[in-house]
Amino acid sequence: SREIRLASRPSGWPVPENFELAEVESPPPGEGEIGVRNLFMSVDPYMRGRMNDAESYTPPFRIGAPLDGGAVGEVVVSRSPDLAPGDIVTHGYGWREYAVLDAGQARKVEEIPGVPLSAYLGALGMTGLTAYVGLLDIAHFKKGEAVFVSGAAGSVGSLVGQIARLKGASRVVGSAGSPEKVAYLIHDLGFDAAFDYRDGRIREQLAEAAPDGIDVYFDNVGGDQLQAAIDELRMYGRVAMCGAISVYNATEPVPGPNNLFLAVGKRLTLRGFIVSDHQARLPDMIAELGAWLREGRLVSMETVVDGLENAPRAFIDMLRGANTGKMLVRLAR
Ligand code: NDP
Repeated sequence: SREIRLASRPSGWPVPENFELAEVESPPPGEGEIGVRNLFMSVDPYMRGRMNDAESYTPPFRIGAPLDGGAVGEVVVSRSPDLAPGDIVTHGYGWREYAVLDAGQARKVEEIPGVPLSAYLGALGMTGLTAYVGLLDIAHFKKGEAVFVSGAAGSVGSLVGQIARLKGASRVVGSAGSPEKVAYLIHDLGFDAAFDYRDGRIREQLAEAAPDGIDVYFDNVGGDQLQAAIDELRMYGRVAMCGAISVYNATEPVPGPNNLFLAVGKRLTLRGFIVSDHQARLPDMIAELGAWLREGRLVSMETVVDGLENAPRAFIDMLRGANTGKMLVRLAR
């Protein structure tokens, strides 16, 4: 089978030459291990940080070693009493067609009729948990409040806006990087208003989209949009600091918001979080989002690229906004 390795570390934007496709002979699973044929793998913005040689909340990828990341696959060999061939599992050994891992590192998932297995990498996986925890537990969103989410047509953002709407937000505003995405937010996802941040005038556009201000800002991008949100937040507003994709490929330090002092008078809370600390909420999230998916009330959008060899391209394209909803690579059918 094949795997993708880190060939070199990018400086600024990653390029295809930073990745290498390799043919490997997988060892047979040992005692307590399973062999999994991967069906889908996830490409995620945080992987950009792991390509740098810098310690963060996840260790850096090693040059010459396979990358890893979320995947869903089918158990084909099992030497564990806990899992059997045919079981569908999620695990952290993506970027390869076949993975051998300890059974304890895999989580068995149930197939929900009408919901594709890929949803376990999107709405019913890490992405869904990020949106759910960030909005409800970190930003403490309550019914009747106005929410602004950036990166709104992306994987996390599209769920944040929909959860806010389904839980009774007074207004849901999103930003995204093209007129098509803006139309998608309003017509397909039920956002009340949306704007294209590439048009500039971010503060004015946000003020027009949320004339009474916002109570919650779910920040996926940082930079100018964080600054605009601080301007538009109301008293006691909260910011869930989820990511800052506008700076992930920067080679120089990026200036921060110049209006942070407003947080004092408005009594704002800005709080960062990492989804892996919140695994305990996974059952609640799956119960709630799973029900909405089954009932057809939640749209779980995916952009699917076929073939392991195209995973680096999918990753690079995702960083540039080629995806609507979750960016996935299909490895087998
Ligand atoms: P997305 O599906 O949102 O894909 C990334 C999107 O970012 C692109 O589609 C693009 O959309 C947008 N983007 C790229 N460059 C910029 C820019 N300069 N300014 C604004 N938007 C930009 O990815 P995810 O949903 O997986 O992740 C969203 C955010 O959440 C990321 O910051 C990620 O790091 C973070 N995250 C954090 C977690 C945590 O535990 N804290 C867990 C998971 C994700 P467009 O066309 O609109 O520009």
